[in-house]
Parts: sequence; C-alpha cells; structure tokens
Amino acid sequence: MAGNITFTMIKPDAVKNGHIGAILAKINEAGFRIVAMKLTKLSPQKAGEFYAVHKERPFYGELVEFMSSGSIVAAILEKENAVEDFRTLIGATNPKEAAPGTIRALYATSIGENAVHGSDSDENAKIEGSFHFAVTEQF
Ligand code: ATP
Ligand code: MG
Repeated sequence: MAGNITFTMIKPDAVKNGHIGAILAKINEAGFRIVAMKLTKLSPQKAGEFYAVHKERPFYGELVEFMSSGSIVAAILEKENAVEDFRTLIGATNPKEAAPGTIRALYATSIGENAVHGSDSDENAKIEGSFHFAVTEQF
C-alpha cells in the first residue's frame, strides 16, 4: 500500500529566484498538508550525504556544490499516495521534459538546477524527513 508521506526541498535556484511562495501555493492547491517545514542551508558535507546515492554519477560534484550554494526550504508533506502524486506535481527531472503546469516546467532553470526535490519511494521519504527534522518538529 502506498504511504502518505513525502519529503521535499525547494532548491537554491528557486529560493534565489523568488519562487518559494508560488511553489508552496501549488503544493497547497494539490492537497498536501505540511507536517514540518523550515528555511535552512545545507553544508557541502550534508548535501553530499543527502545525495550519496548519486556519488558515482558524473554530475555529483556539481549537484553537491549547487545544493549547498544557498538556502533551501525543507518540508515533510502528507497526502494519500504522497510520493507518486508529488512526483507528478513536480514533473520530470529535466524541465524541458516536464509536463506543462508542473513545478519544474514553471520554475526550473535546467536539469541540474531544477527548483524542487521529491522523494522517490516511501522508504526514502522517511529517511529524508528524519535527515532534516527531529520527531518534535513534525506535526
Ligand atoms: P530529486 O532527487 O532532486 O528529486 P530526481 O529524482 O528527479 O531529482 P535524480 O535522478 O534523483 O532526479 O537526480 C538528483 C538530482 O541530480 C536532480 O534533481 C538534478 O538536480 C541532478 N541531476 C540529475 N541528472 C543530472 C544531469 N544529467 N546533469 C546535471 N544534474 C543532474
Ligand atoms: Mg531523486
């Protein structure tokens, strides 16, 4: 059965470009409830840990540098079928391939600087949520 929790980050490009409010509005309109949320910044070490699964990929260095280049908004979101529905809402990794109206189609600049993160499984949603938030910060 699909879980009801996902984890997201509004990435440094979207924060710098002033899209926090618009992205949160899309998330709200799509029916997600905010369980936890904060404006924060990842150190290069923390960004490297978060994306450790991509360590061997050619873009890993670039990804870590980008994700630690500015502040982000981290959040845990709740909705039925959260992981899959949120990935539909954000669109494809490459904004050129993202469906019209999706968050990446609207606000991403490139495949590397693509505005938002969304968990890819229920298991990773739990791991990523607890990476950023203590239990006492989740409501
Ligand atoms: P995310 O995990 O951030 O939600 P995703 O699941 O759509 O994105 P992944 O394959 O997990 O995509 O890649 C993680 C991130 O690495 C991408 O969001 C993007 O920022 C970066 N990335 C992926 N592929 C490339 C690439 N070919 N060139 C540059 N950066 C890339
Ligand atoms: Mg991913």
